[in-house]
Amino acid sequence: MGEGGALGARGAVGAADGRGPAGPVGAAESAESADAAESAGTADSAEDVGPVDDAGPADAVVPGAPARFTELADGVFGYVQPDGGWCLNNAGLLVAGGESVLIDTVATEARARRLRALALRLAPAAPRLLVNTHFHGDHTFGNFLFPEATVVAHAHAREDVLRAGLHLTGLWPEVRWGDLRVVPPSVTYRDRMTLHIGGADGFPVELLHPGPAHTTGDTVVWLPEQRVVFTGDLVMSRVTPFCVMGSVSGSLKALETLRALGAETVVPGHGPVGGPELLDADEGYLRRLQRLATAGLATGLPPAHLAHDPGPGPYADLLDTERLLPNLHRAYAEARGAPPGAPLDIPALFHEMTEHHGGAPACYA
Ligand SMILES: [Zn+2]
Repeated sequence: MGEGGALGARGAVGAADGRGPAGPVGAAESAESADAAESAGTADSAEDVGPVDDAGPADAVVPGAPARFTELADGVFGYVQPDGGWCLNNAGLLVAGGESVLIDTVATEARARRLRALALRLAPAAPRLLVNTHFHGDHTFGNFLFPEATVVAHAHAREDVLRAGLHLTGLWPEVRWGDLRVVPPSVTYRDRMTLHIGGADGFPVELLHPGPAHTTGDTVVWLPEQRVVFTGDLVMSRVTPFCVMGSVSGSLKALETLRALGAETVVPGHGPVGGPELLDADEGYLRRLQRLATAGLATGLPPAHLAHDPGPGPYADLLDTERLLPNLHRAYAEARGAPPGAPLDIPALFHEMTEHHGGAPACYA
């Protein structure tokens, strides 16, 4: 969090305070505990999606509090799923003038039902637009539970959603994914696009593509009037960055783009909401990756060696440190001259990461 950051200024907002679907968004200022969300039972505002408290036993073992919405500015809500590790991503909801826009969904059917139920307590109607910040399943698998929404994303994200399908579920077969159906984005853009929510009294929602970074089809959602940015996985908060499917140098460039926006509140793709300091932390990690790759190439040491020694070093306290190994492969490729976003053998790199880690990393989705 930055000084006076949005969470501190506004406080955590209970997203499940028992209000009906037509309740004014402002009423959400009356914060309720996340436990209330858990015990709310069936969602009166989302009878078509079933109970919201069936997120599965995995919820009980996830470190930290249950997922919840927090109001960051008038009509701007961040949805944070602790602890932000593998497949526990963040989302967002924008509400103005009787309309709403959802930013990303979540990984499992149960989690997506919960997201929908909680969103419908904040929004006067189901979202008509849904922005996917990138193709990864944690951000997109829940699309199918928002059938009223037109799904918007970068053109590459649509291609990758279709190509990847439900592949992610195979990496963690023990997760209760539910009965998922892939819904690809149906509106795509290349460079930038502006959505307008809430008519004359609403606000603009700018979608920016920063180039290859976390993936090759990332979208930044920027709210210039509120100075809030939803970064997708371009920014991780207390969580290891992950750029094997995109670019190290491109991720650094994306951080510059984000910095130039002048956001006061940064909603990362995973981990707690903060301020611009989140960009600095990720930049430090990425620059170290580049230094390690340069040194590794000079000394002839493979990525697997450096992932062990020196290992994550000052970033050992971040979640999911095992990402260092695939990240190093991307850094090596770029140090050898590969352009940002050039294809790598991602399944092989996941396999190597798993072997190096001594098994599949923990996924609490
Ligand atoms: Zn991602």
